[in-house]
Amino acid sequence: SWIENRIKQDEIDKYLDGGEDFINTEEIESVLAGAEGKEPDPARVREIIAKSLNVENLTPQETAELLNVTNPDMLAEMQEAALKVKKKVYDNRIVTFAPLYMANLCVNNCAYCGFRTDNEKSSRRALSMEEVKKEAEVLAGRIGHKRLIVVYGEHPSTDVNYVADTINTVYSAKMPTKNGYGSIRRVNVNMAPIQIDELKYLRDVGIGTYQVFQETYHKPTYANVHPPNTIKGNYRWRLYCMHRALEAGVDDVGIGALFGLYENWKFEVMGLLYHSIELEDKFGIGPHTISFPRIEPAVNTPYVSQCKGVSNEDFERLVTVVRLAVPHTGLIITCREDSEFKDKCLSYGCTQTDASSQIGIGGYAELAESTQEEMRQQFVLGDTRSLDKMIGDYAEKGMITSFCTAGYRCGRTGKCIMNLLKSGEEGKFCKLNAVITFREWLDDFASERTKQLGEKVIQKEIQEIKEKSPEKVYQQFMSNYQRTLNGERDIYF
Ligand code: SF4
Repeated sequence: SWIENRIKQDEIDKYLDGGEDFINTEEIESVLAGAEGKEPDPARVREIIAKSLNVENLTPQETAELLNVTNPDMLAEMQEAALKVKKKVYDNRIVTFAPLYMANLCVNNCAYCGFRTDNEKSSRRALSMEEVKKEAEVLAGRIGHKRLIVVYGEHPSTDVNYVADTINTVYSAKMPTKNGYGSIRRVNVNMAPIQIDELKYLRDVGIGTYQVFQETYHKPTYANVHPPNTIKGNYRWRLYCMHRALEAGVDDVGIGALFGLYENWKFEVMGLLYHSIELEDKFGIGPHTISFPRIEPAVNTPYVSQCKGVSNEDFERLVTVVRLAVPHTGLIITCREDSEFKDKCLSYGCTQTDASSQIGIGGYAELAESTQEEMRQQFVLGDTRSLDKMIGDYAEKGMITSFCTAGYRCGRTGKCIMNLLKSGEEGKFCKLNAVITFREWLDDFASERTKQLGEKVIQKEIQEIKEKSPEKVYQQFMSNYQRTLNGERDIYF
């Protein structure tokens, strides 16, 4: 009966338009077919790119045209434009987080997932609060993360009350560091679609971004991999969960698709775009982040071997097009990808990534860093670098890793953050907070190599703040910077 009562039909019906949902398979196929086979004229591509450079969203038709570009020179031009857009909105900042798997119990039976209920080969459990505390302490105290994405399957033992308890436990965990203590300052949540009242409850607990991936927007493929007698078998319950979240006042939402489930990756890009447009139209807030994980093998998932997947070349194209289509949206790439490829996508399109990741239940406290144990994991990781190593690598390329969580705690979320990002104002706060939180991290956690590389980036950033900010802002920044150097923590604008 727990399963039967999960889906509230009235919380789907209220958002439908004449009984139809906003993903119209025929319409997407026809927009793609209109562009398919026709290499767009370079002048037309430049016209579309100019709109992105002006930080304007693209229409589905424009996006489909970009998806159809195959000319290597034009693809290179698009990637250069993507980098310019990224610099304009996010500058050289990379945001990092760590996944924390709280439980792998699940009542669903998704054909591609190692946690599916019929998979007896994977070992199942939910962390106790004591274990959650230990995981959070390692993440905040030993590794130095400030931001988590906590992950749950869908199961009565890990209902919304369990989710709330685990989040509260994470926020309250503290661990001594060189200069005080480390703590997690933002908890984003990746969990099943839930009801409006439950979302209000989690909003009050203080969740950051609420992340649910549609997996595939292609309805026949969705039906093929999600058995109809499961909760997840209901496409629309999942499709409208962000509507419910926004209605409940959870105003940072993250959408995504599992690339490779449906062989036409361009369709999934269009699905993500239609989803963004729908949320902007209905609520005035687009998604805070978009994720595009590629399907990976997991324990006992024979279905995955039939998937064609998405090649690196196509994946690069999709990152470029999404960056150009929704210029102000954060794009997440994770440690599913190998380090070299992940860094390439971050260099021109993506803005957030994870590091030092353990995706096995209890992995942070129980396993040595960089170890993987297939039997506890949803899939296998491609990038097992430590956070310290990754930050050093990015600093070497002139990028700064930001640990800023100020926006969320100052109310700069949802519509407010979108408006700030579109006007370029958010960048000013972000730059100041990035330098201060990076300073904190270098002093508390960095190895000698990373500290040296990071120091160069910090000095360059300070010089830029001096040259580009009003004197008063610069003075205030330097005062906060000095206080941080002296050991004060968690100072932000
Ligand atoms: Fe459960 Fe998610 Fe895995 Fe499906 S993908 S079986 S919902 S954990």
